[in-house]
Amino acid sequence: MTVAAHQTGRSAETGIHRISRFGLVNEYLVPEDDGLTVIDAGLPGTSRLILARARALGMPIRRIALTHAHRDHQGSLDALAAALPGVQVIASEREAPLLAGHIAFFDTRDGTLYAGDAFTTTLGVATSAVVPWRYPMAGMATWNRDLDLASARLLAGLDPARLASGHGPVVEAPGRAMTRAIAAAARKLERSPNPAASPRW
Ligand SMILES: [Zn+2]
Repeated sequence: MTVAAHQTGRSAETGIHRISRFGLVNEYLVPEDDGLTVIDAGLPGTSRLILARARALGMPIRRIALTHAHRDHQGSLDALAAALPGVQVIASEREAPLLAGHIAFFDTRDGTLYAGDAFTTTLGVATSAVVPWRYPMAGMATWNRDLDLASARLLAGLDPARLASGHGPVVEAPGRAMTRAIAAAARKLERSPNPAASPRW
């Protein structure tokens, strides 16, 4: 887990600009001093929504930051990059092979944690170290549950003011819910440490 903190001057911007496809997969537009940073590039076909939102905000898109390389988070990258000549793409060096680690982005201006799939909020705050049975998408795709749990602890340690996940609504003051989710995941991993022994979908 890499946590990229960015500090871009005094202009603390309130308000999270979220684009949610089918209510499931999120992308975020984060205002910075020089324009917008897009966090994740969504399902294929999302680029038009992202471009339209940027136009509505009246700000240019300067960079695209990917939390990880799953198709539901980068499916529109090519289309978006093609529409934005010269846009900077930020991704973990470890993303090239299949399911490498996640990046999370912590906005030090307002305490927003853009957690990718490390935490989901679709049905309450959960970590991807366990697979919530009603919402297996993020948990199914994770590659190392112990590592995911360590990542979740690291992120909770940032004491974020706001949790903006790759899946689910934005959660304000998520500290206690994150702590509970980590404890629940740890208990579940103790009972079933081998992912192969976990239910599959
Ligand atoms: Zn995801």
